[in-house]
Amino acid sequence: MRTTLIRNGKVVTAKETKAADVLIEGERIKEVRHGINVAAEKVIDAKGLYVIPGGIDVHTHLDMPFGGTTSADDFESGTRAAAFGGTTTIVDFAIQARGTRMRQALDTWWKKAEGRASIDYGLHMIITDLGVAGLEDMDAMVREGVASFKLFMAYPNSLMVDDTTIFKALSQTSKNGALVCMHAENGSVIDVIVARALAEGKTAPIYHALTRPPRAESEAVHRAIAMAEIAQVPVYIVHLSSEDALNEVREARDRGLPAFAETCPQYLLLSVDELERPNFEGAKYVFTPPLRPKEHQPRLWDGLKKDHLQVVSTDHCPFCFKDQKILGKDDFTKIPNGGPGIENRLQLIHHHGVNQGRLSLNRFVELTSTTPARIFGMYPQKGEIAAGSDADIVIWDPQAPYTISAATHHMKVDYSMFEGFTVKGNARMVISRGEVIVEGDKFLGKAGRGRYLKRAARGGAWK
Ligand SMILES: [Zn+2]
Repeated sequence: MRTTLIRNGKVVTAKETKAADVLIEGERIKEVRHGINVAAEKVIDAKGLYVIPGGIDVHTHLDMPFGGTTSADDFESGTRAAAFGGTTTIVDFAIQARGTRMRQALDTWWKKAEGRASIDYGLHMIITDLGVAGLEDMDAMVREGVASFKLFMAYPNSLMVDDTTIFKALSQTSKNGALVCMHAENGSVIDVIVARALAEGKTAPIYHALTRPPRAESEAVHRAIAMAEIAQVPVYIVHLSSEDALNEVREARDRGLPAFAETCPQYLLLSVDELERPNFEGAKYVFTPPLRPKEHQPRLWDGLKKDHLQVVSTDHCPFCFKDQKILGKDDFTKIPNGGPGIENRLQLIHHHGVNQGRLSLNRFVELTSTTPARIFGMYPQKGEIAAGSDADIVIWDPQAPYTISAATHHMKVDYSMFEGFTVKGNARMVISRGEVIVEGDKFLGKAGRGRYLKRAARGGAWK
């Protein structure tokens, strides 16, 4: 079995920071301690560098159809870009088409990933309909390692489900141990506001944000948590964007409820002002929930620090500006919703979190790797540096200067939401199951080497 020894580094986990060597045997970590003295085939000197568990991004949309087009990154380009940024595991979303069985969607998404993914991947199932596909479909998915489901309270004409469906799905998880993830925005209310705006001739990108007020998000968060409370099961709010919504999650957690939420770098670092950029460039920042006034940002950072928010994901869903975002030139409702970010999550959270004193180094690891692994049933295989865990490891250079730009990024999209952002700290080397897949600016991985992850039910949200 191939052995690799990482020497002289500082191992950083969610719990501690310590000087230790890491011995990898085959695909797994064999030993972690100071002064390991074995003759390994490959020795990596990590002096002055951090050795952290590979990033886990539990919210990505690769090769996803939306409004007549498809997200610009497929599983090949998307997972390669993820790897460059230090992410070694993703959980993407399969989408059940209304009136069909969930198994069909799972097969479709397995096919999209197979032969293309270069890092390990899991899948959530988006439930759009519990008619033909009954609750037993949920149980069947859990048996396939799809241990989480996402339901939409927004997008009435395509993805939204009613409270009956949401409550039934939530209730079923008490039997099968899955976790329900909610896109929480009141889509019915939003659609009325949107129709009103269009009737008034308000068609520019900024109206995408102005027609989706924070209260429409917090109302849905409140309702989702209330339904989960009645069903006596955990619930996880995806891409939480506002202080209003955060307050709902905090209050629930203060009452001891198993309510969890993630936010994304864009909500922490960008504001609604971006949508006012001239020449239709505001469209680059059209996604849901929308960007908020910048006053929300310090609240979200505070939420991450105090564990009112548990995870940072990206909601990576890239559409090219030139030939995709442009579909909404005369009508903001036709702009494909989504933005790119899979590559830059660790750089941004390390720099703006750790370097700026908002988060500890251990909290950074916890938010970007360990907790996502726990909540989504992958721990301790993923998200940890310990004997027995998969050798998914990033050698992180905390001093490396890096400027984010579409000119140099690896995502297959013609702009960056963080164009010109300079950060200190970047992945120097990325190891996935014992194999070096990124070294500096070289990609050494291979499309198709990534494996489907069967995730366990009754993960961290249930404990
Ligand atoms: Zn999403």
